[in-house]
Amino acid sequence: MLKNDQLDAWDRAYFLHPSTHLAQHARGESPNRIVAGGSGVFIEDRDGNRLLDAFAGLYCVNVGYGRTEIAEAIAAQARELAYYHAYVGHGTEASITLAKMVLERAPKTMSKVYFGLGGSDANETNIKLVWYYNNILGRPRKKKIISRWRGYHGSGLMTGSLTGLELFHRKFDLPFDTVLHTLAPDYFRRADLALSEAEFVALCAAELEALIEREGADTVAAFIGEPVLGTGGIVPPPAGYWAAIQPILKKHDILFIADEVVTGFGRLGSMFGSAHYDLEPDFITIAKGLTSAYAPLSGSIVSERVWKVLERGTDETGPIGHGWTYSAHPIGAAAGVANLELIDRLGLVRNAAETGAYLRKAVVEALGRHPNVGDIRGEGMLCAVEFVETRDGRRFFDPARKIGPQVAAALLRRGVIGRAMPQGDILGFAPPLCLSRAEAERIAEATADAVAEVL
Ligand code: PLP
Repeated sequence: MLKNDQLDAWDRAYFLHPSTHLAQHARGESPNRIVAGGSGVFIEDRDGNRLLDAFAGLYCVNVGYGRTEIAEAIAAQARELAYYHAYVGHGTEASITLAKMVLERAPKTMSKVYFGLGGSDANETNIKLVWYYNNILGRPRKKKIISRWRGYHGSGLMTGSLTGLELFHRKFDLPFDTVLHTLAPDYFRRADLALSEAEFVALCAAELEALIEREGADTVAAFIGEPVLGTGGIVPPPAGYWAAIQPILKKHDILFIADEVVTGFGRLGSMFGSAHYDLEPDFITIAKGLTSAYAPLSGSIVSERVWKVLERGTDETGPIGHGWTYSAHPIGAAAGVANLELIDRLGLVRNAAETGAYLRKAVVEALGRHPNVGDIRGEGMLCAVEFVETRDGRRFFDPARKIGPQVAAALLRRGVIGRAMPQGDILGFAPPLCLSRAEAERIAEATADAVAEVL
């Protein structure tokens, strides 16, 4: 086995990491971690640390680490047939079975699933299919896509444009001019508006409709949103938000893409966020929880209404010119089948609802009265703590003080991984759905200690 020092040197010499301060990393000014193993909600690194991963990697290892059932399904598939493509009607038992399993769990209005590799490419697929749809319907001007500030939809050219976080646009010449952003449904952050929650929802709806009317509904093709804002700060929608937004989309014949990369497959305590919030999407984006990240796989689930137009399109113009080499990769599909079976067998959707609620209660009990804790929120197995300089009048910290990252670092010193969300002083938790009550208590206690150290 290679020595840690050797790996550290190679890492800094050769590895261009995603979402990393590259210069500090290369100079050895920031720590790296060589992750070596995992079991349940814990990971182990090469320095002998055992850490409670309260973010499930990047909210993706939903069934927890070290599941031999999935590892064996992957190994069996690799032995039998590691790869064949899915073009011109090819499939494998795993990919066909997984498509059926996904549709059985999705809202009834959904019809087919296109498999990709990650959430970003699945959203790229959605946008291409939206454009194709409007071209087939003879509406070539109806192409603009509306997303929300603070939404996260990926890091590709289009999906990075949809993402409404400044960090993901900085120095990249994004967004595309076909992308428009509307208000983030973050009631807590907009205390400055001095509105009731219902008034704030009405404002979000009015802003959206004004944007559509300003641009012209005949130019706006789709709206994309996460049922619960994820990377933008783990923000459940204010009461009545989706009920106010959806009729506007219907009225202007605008397709709705529910980005369920985080919320799909149980994270909210329901199989899909769409069911949780009574959404009627035309597309649902899935990734992460589809395989619990045991292998890369994503999907774009399309509604029957969209499917009918896609069918018509190929009858009119021939095969659809959209495919990846690794679409419906057999190893990802085998991981997906084993993963969805495990989610059912272990009752993880219910555990996400019950233990997720217990986690939030434990966090509230551990630090709810702290003067710098402004908000503790979440849904299912998602939880966020937002720090404020003062609770009265809700004054936020100067971002340069990096309160969120400091608390996350203090938490890590106590053996628990939380995530300093990229915008605002927000500590996020999205543990594996198999979290136990004892583990939830440990997260809450460690968080209270970490907050006491920093604030
Ligand atoms: N959509 C949402 C809601 C996400 O949270 C993410 C990733 O975190 C993506 C899309 C992009 O997925 P990926 O990183 O697999 O490309």
